[in-house]
Amino acid sequence: AAKLNGKNRVELYDESFDRTLRRRSTIEHELRHAIDKKQLTLAFQPVVALPQVRPVGAEALLRWNHPDLGSVSPGEFIPIAEETGQIEALGAWVLHQACRQLSRWVTDGHDVWVSVNVSPRELHSADYLARVRDVLRAHNVPPSRLVLEVTEHAVAVDVVEFRRVLAALRALGVRIALDDFGAGYSSLGQLRQIPVDILKIDQELVGDVALVDVAARIGKRLGLQVIAEGISDQAHHRLVAETGCQFGQGFLFGRGVPAEHLEAMLVSMPPLRHDTAVSPSGSS
Ligand code: C2E
Ligand code: MG
Ligand code: MG
Ligand code: MG
Repeated sequence: AAKLNGKNRVELYDESFDRTLRRRSTIEHELRHAIDKKQLTLAFQPVVALPQVRPVGAEALLRWNHPDLGSVSPGEFIPIAEETGQIEALGAWVLHQACRQLSRWVTDGHDVWVSVNVSPRELHSADYLARVRDVLRAHNVPPSRLVLEVTEHAVAVDVVEFRRVLAALRALGVRIALDDFGAGYSSLGQLRQIPVDILKIDQELVGDVALVDVAARIGKRLGLQVIAEGISDQAHHRLVAETGCQFGQGFLFGRGVPAEHLEAMLVSMPPLRHDTAVSPSGSS
């Protein structure tokens, strides 16, 4: 019986491995047509100033809705896009759409910034700087209203090149945020060497007041603006408020929503005390 079980286990393993590979290759294939078939959209998640809870910015998050696969999360398709090189085309699309939206908001008089996630591969591609410069010009966007979110994974590729690209982007007037701070293996020594403007404290840390406090202090000492990510309930909110983070982001304040919904927040969201923040709303 033991032998049979063992054999069955092996077969089960093979089956699920096979399924994983097939799903992967389906995604890889279908993703190639996602832009042309208009399956991609951007969701905008508010970033709020604390403690007033006033929306001041939005993070553009890529959404993929496929007719058969349904909604595929970026956590699943972005890593595949990075491996296959498709991230270059997707990233260019995201940058273009985000700047187009930002340009509209600025024209309409909204005092808001938009941030875009940049994968290591994009950042290290030869024409990235020119791409950003061109898209800013094409949409007539004030560079300081665009934030590019990078991660320590991009540092790992080539630290010298990383610093050079970031410095050049900042020279354009674009602001740089270090995303997911505290989640990985980033050394503090490295943080000192990379030119960023904003520190985004990873949501993994947000349940622990001591960790958020330390991360926020580090950010402040380095003269950075600090955003606490993943604030999803009032307990998180109180905890983060104690640490003096200037900005917060999370489901408590709003999920990623279509641009029109974010716009409605910008217009109508009254300044709130932190004990009366809006309840989770919206979709995606
Ligand atoms: P990220 O850049 O750290 O974005 C924040 C993620 O946390 C988003 O997930 C957001 O929906 C989620 N989140 C925000 N607040 C909360 C909260 O209170 N609770 C919980 N549980 N989650 C919260 P999403 O949209 O699924 O994106 C996942 C990751 O995929 C992003 O993490 C980013 O690394 C990547 N990604 C998304 N869009 C793009 C893109 O356009 N380009 C690239 N290169 N990566 C992207
Ligand atoms: Mg991000
Ligand atoms: Mg993050
Ligand atoms: Mg993340």
